[in-house]
Amino acid sequence: MSKRLFFTAGPSQYYHTVPHHIQAAVDNQIMSISHRGSAFAEIYDEAIAQIKLIMDVPDDRYVFFFSSATEIWERLIENCVEHKASFFVNGIFGERFRWAAEMLKKEVTTIEAPFGNAFDFEQVSLPDDTELIGFTHNESSCGIMLDMGHIYSICDRYPDALVALDVVSSAPYTNIDYHRIDAVYFSVQKGFGLPAGLGVCILSPRAFERSAELLNKGVTVGTYHNFQQMQKYAAKKQTVETPNVMNMYLLGKVIPDILRDYGTREELRRQIDERAQMIYDFFEEQSEHLPFVTDPSERSKTLAVINTRGTTERIVKELLTYDIEVGYGYGQWRQEHIRIANFPAHTSDDVRRLLSALGQIL
Ligand SMILES: *Cc1c(COP(=O)(O)O)cnc(C)c1O
Repeated sequence: MSKRLFFTAGPSQYYHTVPHHIQAAVDNQIMSISHRGSAFAEIYDEAIAQIKLIMDVPDDRYVFFFSSATEIWERLIENCVEHKASFFVNGIFGERFRWAAEMLKKEVTTIEAPFGNAFDFEQVSLPDDTELIGFTHNESSCGIMLDMGHIYSICDRYPDALVALDVVSSAPYTNIDYHRIDAVYFSVQKGFGLPAGLGVCILSPRAFERSAELLNKGVTVGTYHNFQQMQKYAAKKQTVETPNVMNMYLLGKVIPDILRDYGTREELRRQIDERAQMIYDFFEEQSEHLPFVTDPSERSKTLAVINTRGTTERIVKELLTYDIEVGYGYGQWRQEHIRIANFPAHTSDDVRRLLSALGQIL
């Protein structure tokens, strides 16, 4: 059986060194070690150090592990919001973060743009006492990537609010100014090319202190994954629960591989930009199936969404005969779009192989 090339949005293509590291983990019996012992502390330490390296994290940040980005949404609301939160929603993932706040009975303000459209940032007005503002940097459902400058302009206008930034499908591509963002989070099955089941959240001291304040006030901040509880264990290089040790191990191994293969983060960004351009140029020239996001400057670099005008099923099926898998559209757009990931695990040759197959099919 020849190996399938995955351009799906997540899980996606695994990083090419993952099988090697899984074998080493098996050889070293990683899955049997105690999460209260020194071997685990080393794995934990290495994963955190590598995350800090590739994500350029300042020393004063807390880095916590969760099961997924979906879990992080809930934890951020529980730990950082007593009454009011605001969300920028132009696709399904932003909507799910907002939904978590609603389910937790918070007062929610929504800045909405139609699916796949940019926000009119100048018109934005939020309650002055909003406690948290949620942004989705790369909306994986529709293929739009927000401009960080626009996000910072909102941070500047609401300096008292905590700002949470979903970079699930854009890390480690995105550069972040941590002085303005209080929670930066991702899960590892997208840009890090790993199996699913691990979420990472990078927190500012301000967000961490906020959860202590709420806890002291008697507000419900959750149980085992409230930030204070997490830090008690993190200080010992442990986690509260028995964690996904295997994935932490793999993360600590794969990040150095990514940095070694690309050389620098600037080069990683450059190559992802270049591949995104190849993908968008192909569809622009081909002209029947255009990128869903019309403004080129708003198109995601890490996840291209293409309008198939109802032919998704045929395209997906025919690509499978070339051993290439792309994603269906999200939700109600399942048969209207295809979604093509462009992550560090993909190479220019992979993209050329995809475009050549698409050239035959379309
Ligand atoms: C995939 C995705 C999520 C959810 O990630 P899980 O690991 O499934 O919880 C959240 N936000 C964005 C932008 C995503 O692409």
